[in-house]
Amino acid sequence: MIASQRYQVVRGARLLDGISHDGAHGDLLIDGDEIREIGPPGLEAPADGLVIDAADQLLIPGLVNAHTHGDVSLAKGLGDRLSLELLLNASPLTSETFCLEDKYLAAKLAAAEMVLSGCTACYDLFSEFPMPSAEGLAAVGQGYADVGMRAVVAPLMADRNFWQAIPGLLEALPPKLRDEVDRSQSVPADAAIAACRQALKDWTIDRDQVRLALGPTIPHHCEPSFFRACRALADEFGAAIHTHVAESKVQAVVGMEKFGKTLTAHLDELGVIGPDFTAAHAVWIDDEDMRRLADRGASVAHNPTSNLRLGTGVAPVKAMLDVGLNVGVGTDASTCGDALNMFEAQRLANYLSRIHSPDPDTWLDAKTTLKLATTGSARGLGFGNLTGRLAPGFKADMVFLDLKKIQYVPFNNAVRQMVYQETGTAVHHVMIGGAFVVQAGELQTINYSALRADVARLNDRVHDESEMADALVRQLEGVVGDFCVALAQKPYHVHRFVGIQRDL
Ligand SMILES: [Zn+2]
Repeated sequence: MIASQRYQVVRGARLLDGISHDGAHGDLLIDGDEIREIGPPGLEAPADGLVIDAADQLLIPGLVNAHTHGDVSLAKGLGDRLSLELLLNASPLTSETFCLEDKYLAAKLAAAEMVLSGCTACYDLFSEFPMPSAEGLAAVGQGYADVGMRAVVAPLMADRNFWQAIPGLLEALPPKLRDEVDRSQSVPADAAIAACRQALKDWTIDRDQVRLALGPTIPHHCEPSFFRACRALADEFGAAIHTHVAESKVQAVVGMEKFGKTLTAHLDELGVIGPDFTAAHAVWIDDEDMRRLADRGASVAHNPTSNLRLGTGVAPVKAMLDVGLNVGVGTDASTCGDALNMFEAQRLANYLSRIHSPDPDTWLDAKTTLKLATTGSARGLGFGNLTGRLAPGFKADMVFLDLKKIQYVPFNNAVRQMVYQETGTAVHHVMIGGAFVVQAGELQTINYSALRADVARLNDRVHDESEMADALVRQLEGVVGDFCVALAQKPYHVHRFVGIQRDL
Protein backbone atom coordinates (compact mmCIF):
# COMPACT_ATOMS: atom_id res chain seq x y z
CA MET A 1 0.00 0.00 0.00
CA ILE A 2 1.35 3.41 -0.92
CA ALA A 3 0.25 6.56 0.86
CA SER A 4 -1.26 9.23 -1.42
CA GLN A 5 1.24 11.88 -0.28
CA ARG A 6 4.95 11.24 -0.85
CA TYR A 7 6.26 12.80 2.38
CA GLN A 8 4.72 12.51 5.82
CA VAL A 9 6.33 13.68 9.03
CA VAL A 10 5.33 12.36 12.45
CA ARG A 11 5.87 15.03 15.09
CA GLY A 12 5.59 15.03 18.88
CA ALA A 13 5.78 11.26 19.46
CA ARG A 14 7.95 9.27 21.80
CA LEU A 15 9.87 6.58 19.91
CA LEU A 16 10.55 3.01 20.99
CA ASP A 17 12.08 0.12 19.10
CA GLY A 18 14.17 -1.53 21.79
CA ILE A 19 17.32 -1.00 19.73
CA SER A 20 17.93 2.69 18.93
CA HIS A 21 14.96 4.31 20.63
CA ASP A 22 13.93 4.01 24.27
CA GLY A 23 10.93 6.31 24.55
CA ALA A 24 12.52 9.75 24.11
CA HIS A 25 10.79 12.34 21.91
CA GLY A 26 11.70 12.34 18.24
CA ASP A 27 10.31 13.13 14.79
CA LEU A 28 10.14 10.72 11.93
CA LEU A 29 10.08 11.45 8.19
CA ILE A 30 8.32 9.00 5.88
CA ASP A 31 9.04 8.95 2.15
CA GLY A 32 6.39 6.91 0.34
CA ASP A 33 6.22 3.57 2.13
CA GLU A 34 9.60 3.88 3.91
CA ILE A 35 11.10 5.64 6.89
CA ARG A 36 13.55 8.18 5.46
CA GLU A 37 14.93 9.86 8.57
CA ILE A 38 14.56 9.98 12.35
CA GLY A 39 15.79 12.91 14.37
CA PRO A 40 15.20 15.16 17.36
CA PRO A 41 11.98 17.18 17.62
CA GLY A 42 11.87 19.83 14.88
CA LEU A 43 13.35 17.51 12.24
CA GLU A 44 13.56 19.26 8.89
CA ALA A 45 10.99 17.99 6.40
CA PRO A 46 9.83 18.92 2.88
CA ALA A 47 7.38 21.82 2.99
CA ASP A 48 4.67 19.84 1.18
CA GLY A 49 4.94 16.90 3.62
CA LEU A 50 1.82 15.92 5.53
CA VAL A 51 2.28 16.50 9.26
CA ILE A 52 0.98 13.80 11.58
CA ASP A 53 0.55 15.12 15.11
CA ALA A 54 1.50 12.35 17.52
CA ALA A 55 1.67 14.23 20.82
CA ASP A 56 0.99 11.92 23.77
CA GLN A 57 1.68 8.89 21.62
CA LEU A 58 4.35 6.20 21.75
CA LEU A 59 5.49 5.05 18.34
CA ILE A 60 6.62 1.42 18.17
CA PRO A 61 7.46 -0.81 15.20
CA GLY A 62 4.50 -2.94 14.14
CA LEU A 63 4.58 -6.24 16.02
CA VAL A 64 5.25 -9.28 13.83
CA ASN A 65 3.37 -12.52 14.38
CA ALA A 66 5.77 -15.40 13.69
CA HIS A 67 3.12 -18.14 13.51
CA THR A 68 -0.64 -18.30 12.98
CA HIS A 69 -3.31 -20.16 10.98
CA GLY A 70 -5.82 -17.84 9.29
CA ASP A 71 -8.03 -20.68 8.04
CA VAL A 72 -9.45 -21.25 11.54
CA SER A 73 -10.15 -17.60 12.33
CA LEU A 74 -13.88 -18.42 12.44
CA ALA A 75 -13.43 -21.19 15.01
CA LYS A 76 -13.08 -18.90 18.04
CA GLY A 77 -14.39 -20.46 21.22
CA LEU A 78 -15.11 -23.87 19.70
CA GLY A 79 -12.83 -26.06 21.83
CA ASP A 80 -12.05 -26.13 25.52
CA ARG A 81 -9.92 -28.78 27.21
CA LEU A 82 -8.12 -29.96 24.06
CA SER A 83 -4.58 -31.23 23.87
CA LEU A 84 -2.72 -30.66 20.60
CA GLU A 85 -3.61 -34.20 19.54
CA LEU A 86 -7.31 -33.72 20.31
CA LEU A 87 -7.22 -30.45 18.40
CA LEU A 88 -5.69 -32.24 15.38
CA ASN A 89 -8.33 -34.95 15.76
CA ALA A 90 -10.96 -32.21 15.47
CA SER A 91 -9.45 -30.78 12.28
CA PRO A 92 -12.33 -32.07 10.06
CA LEU A 93 -14.53 -29.58 11.93
CA THR A 94 -12.71 -26.50 10.82
CA SER A 95 -12.48 -25.41 7.20
CA GLU A 96 -13.15 -28.44 5.03
CA THR A 97 -16.12 -26.94 3.22
CA PHE A 98 -14.57 -23.57 2.43
CA CYS A 99 -14.95 -22.26 -1.11
CA LEU A 100 -12.62 -19.65 -2.58
CA GLU A 101 -14.60 -16.70 -1.22
CA ASP A 102 -14.60 -18.28 2.28
CA LYS A 103 -10.81 -18.62 2.29
CA TYR A 104 -10.52 -14.96 1.32
CA LEU A 105 -12.90 -14.03 4.14
CA ALA A 106 -11.10 -16.17 6.76
CA ALA A 107 -7.78 -14.50 5.89
CA LYS A 108 -9.40 -11.06 6.03
CA LEU A 109 -10.89 -11.79 9.45
CA ALA A 110 -7.52 -12.93 10.83
CA ALA A 111 -5.77 -9.92 9.30
CA ALA A 112 -8.36 -7.52 10.73
CA GLU A 113 -7.97 -8.97 14.22
CA MET A 114 -4.19 -8.70 14.02
CA VAL A 115 -3.94 -5.13 12.72
CA LEU A 116 -6.50 -3.91 15.27
CA SER A 117 -4.16 -5.14 18.00
CA GLY A 118 -1.00 -3.61 16.58
CA CYS A 119 0.41 -6.41 14.44
CA THR A 120 1.54 -5.41 10.98
CA ALA A 121 2.94 -8.66 9.50
CA CYS A 122 2.40 -12.36 10.06
CA TYR A 123 3.40 -15.86 8.96
CA ASP A 124 0.13 -17.61 8.14
CA LEU A 125 0.23 -21.40 7.76
CA PHE A 126 -3.10 -21.59 5.97
CA SER A 127 -4.74 -24.96 5.46
CA GLU A 128 -6.91 -25.76 2.43
CA PHE A 129 -8.86 -28.98 2.22
CA PRO A 130 -7.99 -31.43 0.78
CA MET A 131 -4.86 -29.72 -0.57
CA PRO A 132 -3.44 -26.31 -1.45
CA SER A 133 -4.52 -24.66 -4.68
CA ALA A 134 -3.04 -21.75 -6.64
CA GLU A 135 -6.45 -20.00 -6.61
CA GLY A 136 -6.97 -20.60 -2.89
CA LEU A 137 -3.55 -19.21 -1.99
CA ALA A 138 -4.12 -16.20 -4.24
CA ALA A 139 -7.44 -15.59 -2.44
CA VAL A 140 -5.75 -15.79 0.97
CA GLY A 141 -3.01 -13.42 -0.21
CA GLN A 142 -5.64 -11.01 -1.50
CA GLY A 143 -7.38 -11.06 1.89
CA TYR A 144 -4.17 -9.82 3.54
CA ALA A 145 -3.45 -7.33 0.74
CA ASP A 146 -6.97 -5.86 0.98
CA VAL A 147 -6.62 -5.30 4.71
CA GLY A 148 -3.21 -3.79 3.97
CA MET A 149 -1.20 -6.17 6.13
CA ARG A 150 2.12 -7.80 5.30
CA ALA A 151 2.08 -11.62 5.33
CA VAL A 152 3.94 -14.76 4.39
CA VAL A 153 1.38 -17.40 3.43
CA ALA A 154 2.56 -21.00 3.74
CA PRO A 155 0.09 -23.70 2.64
CA LEU A 156 -0.08 -26.38 5.32
CA MET A 157 0.52 -29.79 3.75
CA ALA A 158 0.92 -33.45 4.68
CA ASP A 159 0.88 -36.75 2.84
CA ARG A 160 -0.38 -38.65 5.91
CA ASN A 161 -3.41 -37.72 7.94
CA PHE A 162 -3.24 -37.32 11.72
CA TRP A 163 -4.48 -40.86 12.49
CA GLN A 164 -2.04 -42.46 10.03
CA ALA A 165 0.89 -40.43 11.33
CA ILE A 166 0.95 -41.84 14.87
CA PRO A 167 2.14 -45.47 14.85
CA GLY A 168 -0.51 -47.81 16.32
CA LEU A 169 -3.30 -45.23 16.47
CA LEU A 170 -5.22 -46.52 13.44
CA GLU A 171 -5.04 -50.07 14.82
CA ALA A 172 -6.38 -48.88 18.16
CA LEU A 173 -9.56 -47.53 16.54
CA PRO A 174 -12.69 -49.70 16.22
CA PRO A 175 -12.90 -51.05 12.61
CA LYS A 176 -15.82 -48.78 11.61
CA LEU A 177 -14.01 -45.63 12.73
CA ARG A 178 -10.77 -46.88 11.17
CA ASP A 179 -12.50 -47.16 7.79
CA GLU A 180 -13.94 -43.67 8.15
CA VAL A 181 -10.64 -41.95 8.90
CA ASP A 182 -8.82 -44.03 6.31
CA ARG A 183 -11.24 -42.63 3.74
CA SER A 184 -10.03 -39.16 4.66
CA GLN A 185 -6.83 -40.02 2.78
CA SER A 186 -4.23 -37.35 2.47
CA VAL A 187 -3.41 -36.07 -0.96
CA PRO A 188 -0.40 -37.49 -2.84
CA ALA A 189 2.64 -35.32 -2.25
CA ASP A 190 3.16 -34.80 -6.01
CA ALA A 191 -0.23 -33.11 -6.35
CA ALA A 192 0.39 -30.79 -3.39
CA ILE A 193 3.85 -29.85 -4.69
CA ALA A 194 2.45 -29.23 -8.19
CA ALA A 195 -0.22 -26.92 -6.74
CA CYS A 196 2.42 -24.97 -4.80
CA ARG A 197 4.61 -24.71 -7.89
CA GLN A 198 1.66 -23.28 -9.82
CA ALA A 199 0.87 -20.84 -7.00
CA LEU A 200 4.49 -19.65 -6.83
CA LYS A 201 4.58 -19.20 -10.63
CA ASP A 202 1.24 -17.37 -10.79
CA TRP A 203 1.83 -15.06 -7.79
CA THR A 204 0.94 -11.47 -8.70
CA ILE A 205 0.92 -9.69 -5.31
CA ASP A 206 4.00 -7.58 -4.47
CA ARG A 207 6.30 -9.98 -2.61
CA ASP A 208 7.22 -7.29 -0.09
CA GLN A 209 3.53 -7.17 0.87
CA VAL A 210 2.44 -10.81 0.70
CA ARG A 211 4.62 -13.71 -0.36
CA LEU A 212 4.32 -17.49 -0.43
CA ALA A 213 6.28 -20.07 1.54
CA LEU A 214 5.82 -23.83 2.10
CA GLY A 215 4.32 -25.46 5.19
CA PRO A 216 4.94 -29.22 5.40
CA THR A 217 3.05 -29.44 8.65
CA ILE A 218 4.69 -31.89 11.09
CA PRO A 219 7.73 -34.14 10.49
CA HIS A 220 5.98 -37.48 11.00
CA HIS A 221 2.96 -36.36 8.95
CA CYS A 222 5.18 -36.05 5.86
CA GLU A 223 7.28 -38.68 4.09
CA PRO A 224 10.99 -37.84 3.79
CA SER A 225 10.52 -37.61 0.00
CA PHE A 226 7.87 -34.93 0.56
CA PHE A 227 10.25 -32.86 2.67
CA ARG A 228 12.94 -33.20 0.01
CA ALA A 229 10.48 -32.06 -2.66
CA CYS A 230 9.57 -29.04 -0.52
CA ARG A 231 13.24 -28.15 -0.12
CA ALA A 232 13.83 -28.39 -3.89
CA LEU A 233 10.79 -26.23 -4.66
CA ALA A 234 11.76 -23.70 -1.98
CA ASP A 235 15.25 -23.44 -3.48
CA GLU A 236 13.88 -23.05 -6.99
CA PHE A 237 11.59 -20.13 -6.09
CA GLY A 238 13.43 -18.59 -3.13
CA ALA A 239 10.51 -19.52 -0.85
CA ALA A 240 10.85 -20.26 2.87
CA ILE A 241 9.79 -23.42 4.76
CA HIS A 242 7.88 -23.50 8.05
CA THR A 243 7.19 -26.71 10.03
CA HIS A 244 5.85 -27.55 13.49
CA VAL A 245 8.80 -29.14 15.30
CA ALA A 246 8.54 -31.06 18.60
CA GLU A 247 5.52 -29.05 19.68
CA SER A 248 4.17 -31.73 22.04
CA LYS A 249 5.78 -34.58 23.95
CA VAL A 250 3.70 -37.00 21.85
CA GLN A 251 5.45 -35.66 18.74
CA ALA A 252 8.89 -35.98 20.32
CA VAL A 253 8.20 -39.57 21.44
CA VAL A 254 6.74 -40.58 18.05
CA GLY A 255 9.69 -38.98 16.27
CA MET A 256 12.18 -40.93 18.35
CA GLU A 257 10.22 -44.17 17.76
CA LYS A 258 9.94 -43.63 14.01
CA PHE A 259 13.27 -42.05 13.14
CA GLY A 260 15.53 -43.11 16.02
CA LYS A 261 16.60 -39.50 16.45
CA THR A 262 15.15 -36.14 17.42
CA LEU A 263 12.79 -34.46 14.95
CA THR A 264 15.31 -31.68 14.39
CA ALA A 265 18.05 -34.20 13.61
CA HIS A 266 15.67 -35.96 11.23
CA LEU A 267 14.83 -32.74 9.34
CA ASP A 268 18.50 -31.75 9.24
CA GLU A 269 19.42 -35.09 7.71
CA LEU A 270 16.83 -34.42 5.00
CA GLY A 271 18.52 -31.10 4.24
CA VAL A 272 15.42 -29.10 5.16
CA ILE A 273 16.98 -26.78 7.75
CA GLY A 274 18.56 -23.55 6.52
CA PRO A 275 18.35 -19.77 7.00
CA ASP A 276 14.89 -19.83 5.36
CA PHE A 277 13.55 -22.48 7.78
CA THR A 278 11.28 -21.79 10.75
CA ALA A 279 10.65 -24.40 13.43
CA ALA A 280 7.34 -23.62 15.10
CA HIS A 281 7.09 -24.23 18.87
CA ALA A 282 10.30 -26.29 19.39
CA VAL A 283 9.26 -27.11 22.95
CA TRP A 284 10.73 -30.63 23.22
CA ILE A 285 14.18 -29.91 21.82
CA ASP A 286 17.57 -30.42 23.41
CA ASP A 287 20.93 -28.62 23.42
CA GLU A 288 22.09 -30.30 20.25
CA ASP A 289 18.85 -29.46 18.42
CA MET A 290 19.22 -25.80 19.40
CA ARG A 291 22.82 -25.70 18.19
CA ARG A 292 21.85 -27.44 14.97
CA LEU A 293 19.12 -24.87 14.25
CA ALA A 294 21.43 -21.99 15.20
CA ASP A 295 24.31 -23.29 13.08
CA ARG A 296 22.04 -23.45 10.03
CA GLY A 297 20.80 -19.90 10.63
CA ALA A 298 17.20 -21.07 11.13
CA SER A 299 14.49 -19.42 13.25
CA VAL A 300 12.11 -20.60 15.95
CA ALA A 301 8.53 -19.32 16.20
CA HIS A 302 7.76 -19.32 19.93
CA ASN A 303 4.02 -19.54 20.69
CA PRO A 304 3.69 -19.18 24.46
CA THR A 305 -0.11 -18.75 24.57
CA SER A 306 -0.72 -21.85 22.50
CA ASN A 307 1.82 -23.91 24.42
CA LEU A 308 -0.04 -23.11 27.63
CA ARG A 309 -3.53 -23.54 26.18
CA LEU A 310 -2.72 -26.98 24.72
CA GLY A 311 -0.58 -28.03 27.69
CA THR A 312 2.40 -28.83 25.47
CA GLY A 313 5.13 -27.36 27.68
CA VAL A 314 7.47 -24.39 27.72
CA ALA A 315 10.05 -23.72 25.02
CA PRO A 316 13.58 -23.00 26.31
CA VAL A 317 13.82 -19.57 24.70
CA LYS A 318 16.71 -18.15 26.74
CA ALA A 319 18.81 -21.23 26.02
CA MET A 320 18.00 -20.79 22.32
CA LEU A 321 19.14 -17.16 22.41
CA ASP A 322 22.30 -18.17 24.29
CA VAL A 323 23.40 -20.37 21.38
CA GLY A 324 22.63 -17.62 18.86
CA LEU A 325 19.37 -19.05 17.56
CA ASN A 326 16.90 -16.49 16.15
CA VAL A 327 13.54 -16.53 17.94
CA GLY A 328 10.30 -14.81 16.96
CA VAL A 329 7.00 -14.70 18.82
CA GLY A 330 3.67 -15.92 17.46
CA THR A 331 0.08 -16.15 18.62
CA ASP A 332 -0.72 -19.44 16.88
CA ALA A 333 -4.37 -19.90 15.82
CA SER A 334 -7.78 -18.85 17.14
CA THR A 335 -8.35 -22.50 18.11
CA CYS A 336 -5.27 -22.76 20.34
CA GLY A 337 -3.79 -19.33 21.01
CA ASP A 338 -7.23 -17.76 21.12
CA ALA A 339 -6.75 -14.01 20.67
CA LEU A 340 -4.39 -13.16 17.80
CA ASN A 341 -2.92 -10.55 20.11
CA MET A 342 0.82 -9.99 19.95
CA PHE A 343 0.93 -7.86 23.11
CA GLU A 344 -0.45 -10.83 25.02
CA ALA A 345 1.97 -13.23 23.29
CA GLN A 346 5.07 -11.12 23.99
CA ARG A 347 4.15 -10.69 27.65
CA LEU A 348 3.64 -14.44 28.09
CA ALA A 349 6.94 -15.09 26.28
CA ASN A 350 8.60 -12.94 28.88
CA TYR A 351 6.91 -14.45 31.94
CA LEU A 352 7.36 -18.04 30.77
CA SER A 353 11.12 -17.52 30.49
CA ARG A 354 11.15 -17.31 34.29
CA ILE A 355 10.06 -20.82 35.15
CA HIS A 356 13.14 -22.75 34.02
CA SER A 357 15.49 -21.38 36.65
CA PRO A 358 15.40 -19.34 39.88
CA ASP A 359 18.32 -17.24 38.57
CA PRO A 360 16.94 -13.91 37.23
CA ASP A 361 20.01 -13.57 34.99
CA THR A 362 18.51 -16.33 32.83
CA TRP A 363 15.13 -14.56 32.41
CA LEU A 364 14.11 -12.41 29.45
CA ASP A 365 13.92 -8.67 30.07
CA ALA A 366 11.42 -6.33 28.44
CA LYS A 367 13.81 -5.01 25.80
CA THR A 368 14.82 -8.47 24.58
CA THR A 369 11.17 -9.50 24.50
CA LEU A 370 10.26 -6.57 22.26
CA LYS A 371 13.11 -7.50 19.93
CA LEU A 372 11.82 -11.07 19.66
CA ALA A 373 8.31 -9.83 18.76
CA THR A 374 9.63 -7.41 16.13
CA THR A 375 13.07 -8.08 14.59
CA GLY A 376 13.14 -11.76 15.64
CA SER A 377 9.79 -12.53 14.06
CA ALA A 378 10.54 -10.38 11.01
CA ARG A 379 13.73 -12.34 10.31
CA GLY A 380 11.75 -15.59 10.48
CA LEU A 381 9.32 -14.23 7.88
CA GLY A 382 12.21 -13.28 5.60
CA PHE A 383 11.19 -9.64 6.13
CA GLY A 384 14.16 -8.84 8.39
CA ASN A 385 15.41 -6.03 6.17
CA LEU A 386 11.90 -4.62 5.61
CA THR A 387 10.11 -4.36 8.92
CA GLY A 388 10.45 -4.64 12.70
CA ARG A 389 12.51 -1.45 13.26
CA LEU A 390 12.02 2.27 13.52
CA ALA A 391 15.02 3.02 11.35
CA PRO A 392 15.78 4.71 8.02
CA GLY A 393 15.34 2.33 5.08
CA PHE A 394 12.73 0.19 6.86
CA LYS A 395 9.09 0.20 5.77
CA ALA A 396 6.88 2.62 7.68
CA ASP A 397 5.13 -0.17 9.62
CA MET A 398 4.31 1.44 12.96
CA VAL A 399 1.85 1.45 15.82
CA PHE A 400 0.82 4.64 17.60
CA LEU A 401 0.01 3.86 21.24
CA ASP A 402 -2.13 6.33 23.17
CA LEU A 403 -0.13 7.43 26.22
CA LYS A 404 -3.28 8.87 27.81
CA LYS A 405 -4.42 5.31 28.59
CA ILE A 406 -4.14 4.35 32.24
CA GLN A 407 -1.37 1.79 31.68
CA TYR A 408 0.95 4.76 30.95
CA VAL A 409 -0.14 6.90 33.92
CA PRO A 410 2.41 7.71 35.21
CA PHE A 411 4.86 7.28 32.32
CA ASN A 412 8.04 5.82 33.85
CA ASN A 413 9.60 3.43 31.39
CA ALA A 414 8.49 3.01 27.78
CA VAL A 415 9.67 -0.52 27.06
CA ARG A 416 8.63 -2.04 30.38
CA GLN A 417 5.20 -0.45 30.42
CA MET A 418 4.63 -1.48 26.81
CA VAL A 419 5.73 -5.12 27.32
CA TYR A 420 4.35 -5.70 30.82
CA GLN A 421 1.15 -3.63 30.81
CA GLU A 422 -0.07 -3.16 27.27
CA THR A 423 -2.89 -5.41 26.09
CA GLY A 424 -3.67 -3.61 22.84
CA THR A 425 -6.22 -1.20 24.31
CA ALA A 426 -3.89 1.73 23.63
CA VAL A 427 -3.54 0.92 19.91
CA HIS A 428 -4.66 4.20 18.30
CA HIS A 429 -3.29 4.22 14.75
CA VAL A 430 -1.62 1.44 12.80
CA MET A 431 0.40 2.39 9.75
CA ILE A 432 1.70 -0.17 7.25
CA GLY A 433 3.91 0.94 4.37
CA GLY A 434 3.14 4.59 5.15
CA ALA A 435 -0.65 4.12 4.93
CA PHE A 436 -3.06 4.15 7.85
CA VAL A 437 -4.72 0.74 8.11
CA VAL A 438 -6.23 1.62 11.49
CA GLN A 439 -6.95 5.20 12.51
CA ALA A 440 -8.29 6.21 15.91
CA GLY A 441 -9.01 2.51 16.54
CA GLU A 442 -11.09 2.05 13.35
CA LEU A 443 -10.18 -0.10 10.34
CA GLN A 444 -9.63 2.14 7.31
CA THR A 445 -9.07 -0.37 4.54
CA ILE A 446 -12.14 -2.56 4.87
CA ASN A 447 -15.66 -2.11 6.16
CA TYR A 448 -15.88 -3.73 9.58
CA SER A 449 -19.69 -3.99 9.59
CA ALA A 450 -19.65 -5.74 6.22
CA LEU A 451 -16.92 -8.09 7.48
CA ARG A 452 -19.05 -8.99 10.50
CA ALA A 453 -22.10 -9.68 8.33
CA ASP A 454 -20.11 -11.83 5.86
CA VAL A 455 -18.51 -13.80 8.70
CA ALA A 456 -21.88 -14.41 10.39
CA ARG A 457 -23.34 -15.78 7.15
CA LEU A 458 -20.37 -18.10 6.56
CA ASN A 459 -20.37 -19.21 10.17
CA ASP A 460 -24.02 -20.30 9.99
CA ARG A 461 -23.32 -22.31 6.85
CA VAL A 462 -20.19 -23.98 8.27
CA HIS A 463 -22.06 -25.00 11.42
CA ASP A 464 -24.83 -26.63 9.38
CA GLU A 465 -22.35 -28.47 7.17
CA SER A 466 -20.10 -29.71 9.97
CA GLU A 467 -22.70 -31.79 11.80
CA MET A 468 -21.56 -35.12 10.35
CA ALA A 469 -17.90 -34.38 10.92
CA ASP A 470 -18.77 -33.36 14.45
CA ALA A 471 -20.29 -36.78 15.17
CA LEU A 472 -17.17 -38.55 13.86
CA VAL A 473 -14.83 -36.33 15.90
CA ARG A 474 -16.77 -37.04 19.10
CA GLN A 475 -16.59 -40.79 18.49
CA LEU A 476 -12.84 -40.63 17.88
CA GLU A 477 -12.07 -38.40 20.85
CA GLY A 478 -12.08 -41.06 23.57
CA VAL A 479 -9.71 -43.49 21.82
CA VAL A 480 -7.40 -40.76 20.50
CA GLY A 481 -7.28 -39.06 23.90
CA ASP A 482 -6.38 -42.25 25.80
CA PHE A 483 -3.85 -43.38 23.19
CA CYS A 484 -2.03 -40.05 23.16
CA VAL A 485 -2.01 -39.60 26.93
CA ALA A 486 -0.33 -43.01 27.18
CA LEU A 487 2.27 -41.90 24.61
CA ALA A 488 2.88 -38.67 26.49
CA GLN A 489 3.60 -40.64 29.66
CA LYS A 490 6.53 -42.46 28.07
CA PRO A 491 9.96 -41.26 29.20
CA TYR A 492 11.68 -38.77 26.92
CA HIS A 493 15.02 -37.29 27.85
CA VAL A 494 15.84 -33.67 27.06
CA HIS A 495 19.34 -32.27 27.70
CA ARG A 496 19.17 -28.63 28.64
CA PHE A 497 21.57 -25.84 29.58
CA VAL A 498 19.10 -23.95 31.73
CA GLY A 499 16.72 -25.71 34.09
CA ILE A 500 14.91 -28.84 33.06
CA GLN A 501 11.64 -29.53 31.33
CA ARG A 502 8.89 -31.22 33.31
CA ASP A 503 8.31 -34.94 33.16
CA LEU A 504 11.73 -36.34 32.27
ZN1 LIG B 1 0.64 -24.03 14.18
